[in-house]
Amino acid sequence: MAVFIGLDIGGTKIMVAAADREGNLLRRARMATSTSLETDLGNINSMVAEVAANDQITGMGAAIGGPLDWEQGIVSPLHQPAWRDVPLKAIMESRWSCPFHVDVDTNVAALGEYRWGGVFAGRFLYLTLSTGMGGGFLIDGKIYRGQDGAHPEVGHQSIHYRCSNPPAVQCECGAPDCLEALISGNGIRRIYGKSAEMLNPEEWQEVAYNLGQGLRNMAAFYTPDVIRIGGGVAVGGGENFIQAARRVMEDHLKLVPAPRVELSGLGYDTALRGAIALALPDRID
Ligand SMILES: [Zn+2]
Repeated sequence: MAVFIGLDIGGTKIMVAAADREGNLLRRARMATSTSLETDLGNINSMVAEVAANDQITGMGAAIGGPLDWEQGIVSPLHQPAWRDVPLKAIMESRWSCPFHVDVDTNVAALGEYRWGGVFAGRFLYLTLSTGMGGGFLIDGKIYRGQDGAHPEVGHQSIHYRCSNPPAVQCECGAPDCLEALISGNGIRRIYGKSAEMLNPEEWQEVAYNLGQGLRNMAAFYTPDVIRIGGGVAVGGGENFIQAARRVMEDHLKLVPAPRVELSGLGYDTALRGAIALALPDRID
């Protein structure tokens, strides 16, 4: 039978799955990301062979961190220093003889959540809050793209923030005051000296306030119907954290309708499921 392969290539782990034509998962595999490009590509190919088993691979999709050129399929994920200007599409298409599509992980996660997470919204914003922070915006299921295909970087907006340790607010992009530097896993570690799961209630409240201010800006600019938030920090903070941020957003949003704000419905599989959506023949670019 025909199978479709999805890949979620992250800074700490790589997940691969095979699915049928309807997107139902058949088999899956995962390995830790290494520090060598050759090792990672070798692991990816062996996992693809494993999950495909004896079926015919008909399409492949992949989620990976930006920056990247989605049309040429050339990737340079910021948090994977060994991967620079890698022609991933050309490499995979010549190895597996089938179409290969790759996009920024947060765009791909948005597609997964939209297709399989029970989202019924024309204007849909998906946010990932994990090691870093990013978002993908869909209009009627189609990815919104900026100038020359640029990916909007919602994590690198400046907000009116609260922080008990202001000198530690330093974004990895080089700017001193980004939202990502306040609420991402790496940002939380720099500010509070511990991982998100170790935060006390007051510290969670501060992070929720800052997320809420970011949501307020995004709601004011995009006026989406729904904002879904996934990733380890969001899942760890849970419904209380998300709803505390929503209340901050609503308190400060005066002129546009407030979107629904919800926790991701797919948990840690959002980008992997989106990668399968990208592999299927009825995908929307
Ligand atoms: Zn930044």
